[in-house]
Amino acid sequence: MSVAMKPSATRAQLDEVVHKIKSAGLKVDISSGEFQTVIGIIGDEKRIDFDQIRSMPGVYDAIRIQVPFRLMSRSYIPKDVVVKVHGVSIGRDNPPVYMCGPCSIESYEQIHRIGKQVKEAGAHILRGGAYKPRTSIHSFQGLGLEGLKHLQSAGKDLDIPTITEVRSEVDVESVAKYADILQIGARNMFNQDLIEATARTGKPILFKRSFAAQIDEYLSFAERIVANHNKNILLCERGIMPLGGTFKSQTRFTLDLNAVPILRKETPFPVIADPSHGTGRRDLVLPMSRASIAAGAHGLMIEAHDRPHEALSDGAQALDPKELAKIIRMCNLLHKTIRESETPFSSDFVNGNGHD
Ligand code: PEP
Ligand code: MN
Repeated sequence: MSVAMKPSATRAQLDEVVHKIKSAGLKVDISSGEFQTVIGIIGDEKRIDFDQIRSMPGVYDAIRIQVPFRLMSRSYIPKDVVVKVHGVSIGRDNPPVYMCGPCSIESYEQIHRIGKQVKEAGAHILRGGAYKPRTSIHSFQGLGLEGLKHLQSAGKDLDIPTITEVRSEVDVESVAKYADILQIGARNMFNQDLIEATARTGKPILFKRSFAAQIDEYLSFAERIVANHNKNILLCERGIMPLGGTFKSQTRFTLDLNAVPILRKETPFPVIADPSHGTGRRDLVLPMSRASIAAGAHGLMIEAHDRPHEALSDGAQALDPKELAKIIRMCNLLHKTIRESETPFSSDFVNGNGHD
């Protein structure tokens, strides 16, 4: 349920409704819009009387939200959310945002060098992993804290915001100290303690969909971020894997582009696509970047490396910065063309018309 207050509602009336909900043992998230305050309810709604809340002074309406991921839905937050990071605005009708850089931070020199190249190619945000989630314990696991410091230094020198993955709850504080956006990776999508600890930093979070998650499940885990009073959420489709992985495929993962318009329609949060991890192949990054933008992605995460053969992780999908520049130019043009067309992106139809 969410409770919409009247525009004229007083602070005391709001407090009274919040008190009523909390005394039933439930929690709240308060969303203050331009004209109206909406109270989101966290917990078992059966414990509160819908009609009683509706008749309280200052209440405009109490709406029962049908989807399981209530706080992520457009019924709770109708308008597109724009996530702002040091002058970069992501979401709504802003031009696409590109988060680019190497898979792993390998040295001080490497992240400064590649950071400069991706910025020149048109990237808005510098990515680089310091804590790497690897399938094999024998693979490079990342530089850890030293890597975070290199990334922060590159971000400052190049005047570009940064994003890096937080893999464990014990590192949340230090990652939040050194990076501008915290990434929760596909392998940690189900880690509710990590999600909640990361959310409590209040920093923007890029939340990747697990390769084994249905969209509803994904949004239910993302909802834990809102329940911890953080609405700076970037949703990220990074490729899925057929359950059991029983058929031989040309690619390890399949970038699920259906998810892009579905997420835009169901939720107000910006949607990012990751054609690098979604394909695992350099030659597929360009066509799938175009496809992601055409499907309505608000931004792309693309891995780049000027010496991919020397890369300590994901060299096979790393793009040369010159290629990256080409993709960014092409995607910007494509975005502009679609925005000016008769049938722009799916959530444009949702806005103002409510959820259908
Ligand atoms: C990454 O961004 O480097 C990464 C490991 O991503 P994912 O969690 O999507 O595999
Ligand atoms: Mn990678």
